[in-house]
Amino acid sequence: MKLHAEDNVMVIKGRDRGKQGRITRVFRKEDRVLVEGVNLVTRHTKSTGGVRQGGIIKKEMPVKVCNVMLVCPDCGKPTRIGYRSLADGSKARVCKKCEEVIE
Ligand SMILES: [Zn+2]
Repeated sequence: MKLHAEDNVMVIKGRDRGKQGRITRVFRKEDRVLVEGVNLVTRHTKSTGGVRQGGIIKKEMPVKVCNVMLVCPDCGKPTRIGYRSLADGSKARVCKKCEEVIE
């Protein structure tokens, strides 16, 4: 999984194409991420026992990682992610457009 929580991504496919948002959750096994304000579904709920208000609520559903691209914090463009080995042996993600390391 190349994407992490808190990453900024842009949707490149589907109904929400062009939207940007922050990843709030990563589902590694499913290869899906939850992105703020993206892939909203409308749920009609009935009030049950007065705990939850009835009505329409909007809820985000996870999207496939292949449908989003990371937005590079340095150049601000949606980009593919590369990897670079650092001096200490660890790997860092890098932007393929500007070559900057992405935290
Ligand atoms: Zn960049």
